[in-house]
Amino acid sequence: MTLDSHLGIGMTSRRTRERLIQRLRKEGIRDRLVLNAIRTTPRHIFVDEALASRAYEDTALPIGHGQTISQPYIVARMTELLIEAGALDTVLEVGTGSGYQTAVLSLLVNRIYSIERIGELQRQARRRFQSMGIRNIRLRHSDGGLGLPDYGPFDGIIVTAAPEGIPLALVNQLKQGGRMVLPIGADQEQILVRVTRTSDGYEKELLERVVFVPLLSGVQR
Ligand code: SAH
Repeated sequence: MTLDSHLGIGMTSRRTRERLIQRLRKEGIRDRLVLNAIRTTPRHIFVDEALASRAYEDTALPIGHGQTISQPYIVARMTELLIEAGALDTVLEVGTGSGYQTAVLSLLVNRIYSIERIGELQRQARRRFQSMGIRNIRLRHSDGGLGLPDYGPFDGIIVTAAPEGIPLALVNQLKQGGRMVLPIGADQEQILVRVTRTSDGYEKELLERVVFVPLLSGVQR
């Protein structure tokens, strides 16, 4: 146990967070806006108190209901891939989960809509955003595979649970030139893909191996 954690300030201390940023840099995250958003987002708020001391480790952690808060590296990487081309106005996220990825994105885009199929997780995330005073997030309790056709088209879409293939309903809710970042695959391990909407369909880039929970259909209270 370090002196910091012994004093109970380890999990939130600037030094602990800075170590995570150094690690993300080493792993190849370059975008300063993204690194800053990660630096200022208190990840310990998004996990159970019992796990708060591990919140700034670069690892996924359980959030209940068989789901996980994504690893900071993957949050940073997906965010970087989404905003690389410049500032985005509206973004759709599928899979709110803890709300951590949503909170990071809320610092970088004008407005973010986020869909979660498990009601309890959505309500928890809503309380967290309220306590942090975040105002540019709109949450929906529904099946995210269908997107939010009434609110689109979006400049960007991020999916944080893995479908087996590219969901065309979501591609159709991207503006032309808009980008969607998502894991694709039916196995334990999937491939991270970036889809760019074009005038006559879409282009896709296959990026790296990742591990996500599956995208499920229907909703749960
Ligand atoms: N970005 C989140 C990741 C949570 S894990 C975080 O860092 O906390 C993925 C989430 O996607 C889970 O909460 C799961 O319930 C949700 N999910 C799975 N299928 C979904 C669907 N069809 N629509 C909406 N959310 C879905």
